[in-house]
Amino acid sequence: MCTLVAIQCMNLALRNDPVGIMSEAAAASETIRVLMIDDDVQYSALCARYLKSSNRANFTVTFASSAAEGFKELDKAEFDCLLVDYLLPDLTGTEVVRALRDFKADPYPPTVIMTAQGGESAAAEAVRAGAMDFLPKRTVTATSLVRAITNAVQKNSLRKSMAEQSSKLRRANQELKTRNEEIQRFYQVVSHEVKTPLAAAREFIAITLDGIAGPVTAYQTEMLTYALESCDQISAHFNDLIETTRLESKKMVLNKELTALDEVVTRLFASMSSAVDSKKVFLKKRLLNEIPPFWFDCNRVIQVLSNLLGNAIKYTEPGGTITMAVRHDREAEVVEIAISDEGCGIAPEDLERIFDRLYQVGGTGDDFMGAGLGLGLSIAREIVQLHDGDLTAQSVVGEGSTFTVRLPSTNPLSK
Ligand code: ADP
Repeated sequence: MCTLVAIQCMNLALRNDPVGIMSEAAAASETIRVLMIDDDVQYSALCARYLKSSNRANFTVTFASSAAEGFKELDKAEFDCLLVDYLLPDLTGTEVVRALRDFKADPYPPTVIMTAQGGESAAAEAVRAGAMDFLPKRTVTATSLVRAITNAVQKNSLRKSMAEQSSKLRRANQELKTRNEEIQRFYQVVSHEVKTPLAAAREFIAITLDGIAGPVTAYQTEMLTYALESCDQISAHFNDLIETTRLESKKMVLNKELTALDEVVTRLFASMSSAVDSKKVFLKKRLLNEIPPFWFDCNRVIQVLSNLLGNAIKYTEPGGTITMAVRHDREAEVVEIAISDEGCGIAPEDLERIFDRLYQVGGTGDDFMGAGLGLGLSIAREIVQLHDGDLTAQSVVGEGSTFTVRLPSTNPLSK
């Protein structure tokens, strides 16, 4: 398909330049080495005369009267174009093209097939085998011959440069892949190396804060609390990086179990209670109908919902309400979990991008303590997609946002 498009592009470029003005100046000073393979000596001489009389390029012509002789010439010298009679004493034009393609070094010179009258279907076969063009022998003129050869040479050089470009692109792509893998490995190593000492530092801060190492003043408590939150935040950042590399390298495996969502929501609400209390917002649950137990990775779904609730709490002013509405669409076999807040909302231009990796509204984290890396929603969406579900968002600036998780409630084992 690509080759076809490429050939169409090349033909278009050449059609737009029917008399070769595009390269006439260059072509006139250019030498085009033609190997003419034809057992009709007189016809070969006529073609050579046509070519030599052209001022579009300096043509040099070498003659061979059979395919075998032609291949010998090809072994001895380089040519820019082959002019091949379709009916040679030893091979047909198609066989010559196939032999060139299969046995001669690539790139072999472009081939123009010369056919006797009525030889169009044979010529078409030769073109399918790799010939660049064909000319009916009887109607050949100096102009058509020169044009066919110069077009074939130009097409061939376009084809070569496209092949070079695509091999460069392939190499660049491979390099990017390797770099990406290196970066992922680096993230993973750094994250793991940092997490252990970070956990130790957090533990010592917590112990000191509890007064186990001696009495702590109110001011020290404030400072240590701040230090503790910072440790948690760094740890959350590293977790996000590790999760992203895990997703990127397709190493995240779901551990689905038949689970009652209600229990998960109860656990989730308990874990969010301190954030809800300290932000002084209200968190409500609405079960819109009965949700049967269904198959999902409980920890991963908790991770997604915690992230969405965490954001909802972060962007809602004290006194605001966050609602989690859950319903089962029996017909579609989907469980829908919608988390709505009364926060600042998200502008339409940002709404399209908030699921992109590293995207943050306003470009950076909002404030130092609440700032994330802009990875939370992309991780959440990928986890939901791993469940064959989807995560979408609706929002009105100044009124609030709703993030909706849809998970299939079908039994994966019955598929
Ligand atoms: P981070 O991990 O940095 O918190 P997220 O991927 O979770 O980033 O969110 C991306 C952006 O989406 C955030 O910068 C925030 O501006 C916006 N956002 C996410 N949830 C909400 C919400 N409930 N209300 C308003 N804005 C939100």
